[in-house]
Amino acid sequence: MARKKVWNVWAKLRTATRQIWMWSPARREALKKAKIGKGREALYQCAVCPKQVPHYCVDVDHVIPCGEFSNYEQYAEWCYRLFEGELRVLCKPCHLERK
Ligand SMILES: [Zn+2]
Repeated sequence: MARKKVWNVWAKLRTATRQIWMWSPARREALKKAKIGKGREALYQCAVCPKQVPHYCVDVDHVIPCGEFSNYEQYAEWCYRLFEGELRVLCKPCHLERK
């Protein structure tokens, strides 16, 4: 029998807040800094390996990982790391390796 999924406020906050971060000036700035070239041909320099990859192959990574939260105090700290933490652009394989 399928178990009913529990509505988890922390998981919802995580998803919703990350969605806001996706459009943050800090994230856009990080992408802009790593960008080489212009328009559709533009590539991004990975901060770890020598690869230069198109936009669909990059992830914006937090140098200090944001981690997890399961109460409101931790959520506030998590938000601080998410929005104020240092960012860098990684290619997807390098980002996967960090997880
Ligand atoms: Zn890389």
